[in-house]
Amino acid sequence: MLFSKFHPRASVPTIFDIDFEYLWKEGKRALIFDLDRTLAAGRRANLHPKVYRLLSSLQERGFAVAILTNRHFQVKRDQVIADLAQNYPLIYAAGKPGKKGFLTLMAKMNATPADTVMIGDRLLTDIWGANRLGIYSIRIVSKSRVIRKPGTR
Ligand SMILES: [Mg+2]
Repeated sequence: MLFSKFHPRASVPTIFDIDFEYLWKEGKRALIFDLDRTLAAGRRANLHPKVYRLLSSLQERGFAVAILTNRHFQVKRDQVIADLAQNYPLIYAAGKPGKKGFLTLMAKMNATPADTVMIGDRLLTDIWGANRLGIYSIRIVSKSRVIRKPGTR
C-alpha cells in the first residue's frame, strides 16, 4: 500500500522527545539523523550546543550516530557540515530518498536495516527513504522542531 511507504513509525516534536532507551531495548543500535529541520534550524552556521551534547551522549550510550543530508556542501558557508563530519559519518548531497546514502552509512556503522533508525522531518525523503529499506523511521513534526542557536556565542 503506497500510503504506508510515507508513514513514519513514530512522530515526535523534536529530537529531544525521542525515547532512545526504548529504541535501544528494541535492539536499535544505529541512528541516522537528517540535518535541516531535524538537527539544525535551516542553514545556520552552528547547531545548538544541546544538539552536539545529545549526539555525543548517544554515542557514549553505545549507539552509532550518522548524518544523512540532501544539503549541498558549500565550504565557506557550511561549517556545521564540516564540524559534524569530524565526529560522525556524514553524507551530504545524499539524494534521499535514494537508497545509496542509507546503505553507505549502514555499512560504515556495521548496521543493518533491522537495527537502524532514521530520524528526519520530510516524508518524501527521510521517511520514504527509510521505509523502502525497512529502516525504522521517526518523523520530527512540530513547528517548534527548529532548534535555535542561542542569541550569542
Ligand atoms: Mg530535513
